[in-house]
Parts: sequence; C-alpha cells; structure tokens
Amino acid sequence: MQKSLRMILLTGFCNGAIVLLVLGYPRSLAIGQAVTGSAIPKYVFMFLSDGAGMTHLEIARQYRKHIYNEGMVIVDKIMKEGSVGVMTTHAANSLSTDSAAAATAMASGCKANIGALGMCADGTVAVSAMELARRRGMKLGLITNSTVYDASPAAFVCHVAHRKDYLGIVNRYLEMAPDVILGGGSEQFMPKGQEGSRRNDETDMIAAFEKKNYRHVGNKEELARVSKGKVLGLFSRFDMSMELDRDKQSEPSVYDMASAAIRLLHEQNPRGFFAFIESENIDSASHLSDIASVIHDYREFDRAVGLAYEFYKKFPRETLILVASDHDTGGLGFTRALRDLTSTENDNLVTGTVADFKKIQTIGISLQKASSILGRSPTAEAVDNLMRDYFPGFTLAPEYKEAILKRQPVSRTVLLDPTANALGMMIANHTQVYWQTSEHTNQPVLVAALGVGAETFKGYYDNADFGKKLKAVIEGKNHR
Ligand SMILES: [Zn+2]
Repeated sequence: MQKSLRMILLTGFCNGAIVLLVLGYPRSLAIGQAVTGSAIPKYVFMFLSDGAGMTHLEIARQYRKHIYNEGMVIVDKIMKEGSVGVMTTHAANSLSTDSAAAATAMASGCKANIGALGMCADGTVAVSAMELARRRGMKLGLITNSTVYDASPAAFVCHVAHRKDYLGIVNRYLEMAPDVILGGGSEQFMPKGQEGSRRNDETDMIAAFEKKNYRHVGNKEELARVSKGKVLGLFSRFDMSMELDRDKQSEPSVYDMASAAIRLLHEQNPRGFFAFIESENIDSASHLSDIASVIHDYREFDRAVGLAYEFYKKFPRETLILVASDHDTGGLGFTRALRDLTSTENDNLVTGTVADFKKIQTIGISLQKASSILGRSPTAEAVDNLMRDYFPGFTLAPEYKEAILKRQPVSRTVLLDPTANALGMMIANHTQVYWQTSEHTNQPVLVAALGVGAETFKGYYDNADFGKKLKAVIEGKNHR
C-alpha cells in the first residue's frame, strides 16, 4: 500500500473514528510457524523500565545483593540466559529524547519528534507492533503505574500529534479495545461534572468501556477477584504511588497488575497475547533525584519480570520476554566526591560503599511525598520537622534548606521540583550517589531478551531498529 493511503487510513484513529485497518501487511503466517529460521512468539512480554539507565539497573542490583541478599531476575535470568542489546535513544529533533518519541520508535520502528505519539518525523504513520499483534488475533494488555494514557503505553496503540491529547488517546483505547488496561488516571475517564474529573466534556468513559463488556475495577482486591473477560483497572486519579508510599492493602503494585494481566490474558486464549508492562515510577523518581524510590520501584518491577520468567519456563518455545528502557533519566552514578568544600586534599575525599546502601535503607518515604508534605510555601519549622521525622540520619546543608524555602533550583540541570531535588542532593552528599540532571540524558540503554526471537535483539542498535525488530518478530520475519 502506498504511504499516503496508509496515512489517510490511520489519521483520525484517536478521534474515535471507525477506520478499517487495511495496512497492506501480510497476515498469511500462523503463530508458531517457522519462517526463515524464526518462529513467531505466541506470548510476548514487553517490559519497559521508564527512565532506567544502566546505572539505575546496577545500583538496584547491588542494593538487593547487599541489603536483601537476593538476585535480580532481569540480570540473572533474562540477560544471562538470553540476549543483551545496547540501544541508542535520541529523538528525531533532539539528542535527548522523551517517552513519546522513544516509545514511538520502539513500538513502530520510526524516528519521531519530541512529544509525538505514534507519528513518524518524516510525516508518515507506521503501524505499531501491538497493532500487528492484534491483526494476528493476539490479546493485548496495557499495564503501567503511570496514567494508562501516558506516552509509553499510548505509543503502542495510538497515533496522535501530541502526547497530551489524552481524550484522543482514551477514545482510541475504547475503539481498539485492548483486553486488559491497568494503571492510574481515572480523572480522564470521569465526566466533567464529577469530582476529580479533568475532562472537558460530560462523557462517562468508564460507562462507555462497560458498554463494551469491560469489567471496571478500582482497587487491589477487586483486581485480584476478577478472573476473566476484558478489564479496565483504574487505581488512582493520576499516577499511581511510589512503592515507598503505596498503601499495600488497597493499591496494586506493578507486580500485582502483571500477575492479574497474565491470568486474564492467558485464560482460554489459543491466539496468544502481547502484554506491555511498564514501571513509570523509575522515571518519575529519577526526575526528583530520588534514589530510594528508584531502588524500591525497580525491585517491584523486577518481581513482575519474574512472573514472566516463570511463565516462560512453562512455555519456553512460545514465549518472548523483552525488558528495555526508553531512555536514561538523571545521569545517575556512584562517584568519589569531596566530603565538603573546605579542601581537595585526600583526607577530604569520600567514595560510595555498602554502608551508603544502609543509609539509603533508612529512607522510608519518596521525595515526591516529602515535597508534597512541605507544599508550595514551606516554613523553616516544617522543613526541620520533615528532617526529624523522615531523614533522621541526614543533615540538610544551609544552601539546600534555602533552596527549599525559596523554591529555587539547586543547579541549572536540576529543575523539576526544587524541594525534591534539594533533598535528593542532600542524600547524594551523604551517600556519594549523584545525579547529573533531573531530566533525560542520551545515555544508551540496555535491552534484555529471552525466548522466541530473542537473538534478534543482540547487538548495538537504535530504538527505531528495536521497533523494526519487534515488528519483524511479530510478523515472523527474521530482521537483524
Ligand atoms: Zn521522564
């Protein structure tokens, strides 16, 4: 099919238009059928650790080894038994990407501009890997601890000019009807008049999904009870909680959601599934210079990958597990540093050790929560109380206290939330794990792959090539 015609057909997908999916892609191959030496996986897990660079992974791994005496599934199972790739992440119009451009490349195989969702920078609209999976009759799952309409999951099924077109994205979900949608973001599903809604119309999207035979669930218990059919799970008004703050009784974690999704997608399903499972919290924590949340949320994400690994052990010839990041956030790393600014002599140098993990272990609150406790105009007394209640082993340097009180950034690259970032720098000064920035960087990221087609993901390649490889595996073509 000509590009122009394909574009016309895809344009308007996210405006609720009913459009025939006639994309000119071959659908002659059966799942499991061997083609040029490669079979098509029946079960595809696409795990995304949003914002996690190589050092996030390494710090999370070392922390667990020293603090919990446990391994990490992503490293010990997926990487060591499978294939490892290194992926470049730049956007078409920027050397550091955002989640929309990155996920578009990974889902559809084309370079995209910052903010664009499922739209290629060259003006074309490429079909995504998940749309190909749907054409094969596979069930689809979108699972995230961000809002369900956030850029990363949305890029796998949507084609809109900008990631903030939330109504368009939710309309597209309703139209395409992925079998399982789990995450946060109920505010875009409630009619305008309802308390907590952020919609600008009176449409009740939860009712619209229920009309399409979805079961709507809103807490951990309801999710655990649902055993079949299509499910829309919305567990918070906006993003879901960081692990350190999560109410373990009522709010499911990414592990809990992955567990439910596997159960629902695998139930009486001869055609297989494609499950997108994301931890956005790793990215969100990194924007706030929050090392403790990075570690705890990475652990829960890794436990979710462990569920897929158990599944793979049962169906090794039919399953593909991919674990990738979309980009690095923060330029994180342990380093040697000065204890203070009094001298550069050796006796004033400190380096990160296991003892620093033990200091991080004492932190029992996310910096997002700490920042929200202080609010937009904190008093000196409130800052002192916060330090006493939540950071007893840490001392807040006068310049960071001032930054918090005046709501001023502590450096030119640490700019998102002055309170959280100042607390993050305080933790860095005590533990030698420093942040280069509160934004995304262009560090290449790791891709781990295990199972059917995993060898395709070996090597060094761009994120658009990742998308091409993923689509080729779904189509049964051996792309390298
Ligand atoms: Zn981010």
